[in-house]
Amino acid sequence: MASEFDLIHRFFTRPTPGAVLGVGDDAALVKVNKGMELAVSTDMLVSGTHFFPDADPFFLGHKALAVNLSDMAAMAAQPHWATLALSLPGVDESWLEKFSAGLFALADEHHIELIGGDTTRGPLNLCITIMGEVPHGAALRRSSAQVGDDIWVSGVLGNAALALAHMQGHVQLAEKDFAACALALHQPLPRVALGLALRGVAHSAIDISDGLLADLGHILECSNVGAEITFDTLPISYALQLYLEQPLGRHCLLAGGDDYELCFTVPVAHRSEVEKIAANLGLLLTRIGTITAEKKCTVRAADGSIINIEESGYDHFR
Ligand code: ADP
Ligand code: MG
Repeated sequence: MASEFDLIHRFFTRPTPGAVLGVGDDAALVKVNKGMELAVSTDMLVSGTHFFPDADPFFLGHKALAVNLSDMAAMAAQPHWATLALSLPGVDESWLEKFSAGLFALADEHHIELIGGDTTRGPLNLCITIMGEVPHGAALRRSSAQVGDDIWVSGVLGNAALALAHMQGHVQLAEKDFAACALALHQPLPRVALGLALRGVAHSAIDISDGLLADLGHILECSNVGAEITFDTLPISYALQLYLEQPLGRHCLLAGGDDYELCFTVPVAHRSEVEKIAANLGLLLTRIGTITAEKKCTVRAADGSIINIEESGYDHFR
C-alpha cells in the first residue's frame, strides 16, 4: 500500500512558485508584500455533516477549496496559498485522484498554491486553511455596516438548499431544475473577483454559508445595527420561484445554507459603482434592503406587511 509520503507526493505536491517554500519541510514559507495584511481562514467539511459519505470526490475537492475562497472573497482578500488537512478512512487511490483533480481545477482557476497540510487516518474530514493578502485597512469587516447603507447580494439565493431538499425527498424537482440547483450545491462559485472589486466601495461583507438571515444577522450584530429587507427583491431561480408560496421555499431562500454568495453593505452614494461592478463581472448583484438604526431585522412583503420569519439560519448544534 502506498505510504503517506507517496500519497502526498502523488496527489498533493505541485510547483509553488508563489511561495518561498512549499510542501516537503516542517513548515511552508510565504512572503507577504509590503503594505499588505495576511488574511487567514479555515473551513472544514465533515462527512455526514456537510456532505454525504458517498459524495463525488471531484466535487468535494472543488467545494473544500471553494468554501475557503468564499471567506477570502468576503474579506476582499486576494487568496494565494492553502494548506490541506485530510483525515481519510483508508487509501482509495481513485477517490484521491478525483478529489485532488477537483481541488486543483479550482486552485488553478484562482492561482492558488497548495503549500502544505497534514494527512492522517480517521473519519473522512476535509479541512483547508486559506491565506491571502489585503491592503492594510482594506478588509471588509462584518463590523463596518452603517445606518443607511444599501444591502446587496450576489447571484441567486436558496438553490443549494433546494437541491438538498430534493435529495432528502422533501420536494420533487423537475430534472433540469434539480441539475441547476445541484450545481449550486456541489460546485459553488466563490465570488473572489467581486470581493476584490468591493474594496473601497462596500462598508462590510459576509459570505452566505448558513443562510441569508443568519449571515446578515452577523453583520447586524457586529455593526450594532438592524435591517429592512424587501422580500420581493430577493434574487431567486426559476426553480425556487415555484416553491415560494410554501414554507419550504421561503426557508430555502431566507435560511438555506451553502449558497456562498456575498451579502454586502454599500453607502447609497456608491450605488452606481456596484452597478458597474455587476456589469464588468457579468454577475447579478441585487439591492435587497437597507441598514437601519433599529436593531432588528424586518422582512417586508411588497404591500409593506411584515413577513413572519421563524426561520433562522442553520445551526450545527441545534
Ligand atoms: P510533519 O511530520 O512535520 O507533520 P508530514 O509528514 O505531516 O510532516 O508532512 C510532510 C510534508 O507534506 C509537510 O510539508 C506537509 O505540509 C505536507 N503535507 C502533508 N499532508 C499534506 C496534504 N494533504 N496536502 C498537502 N501537503 C501535505
Ligand atoms: Mg503532519
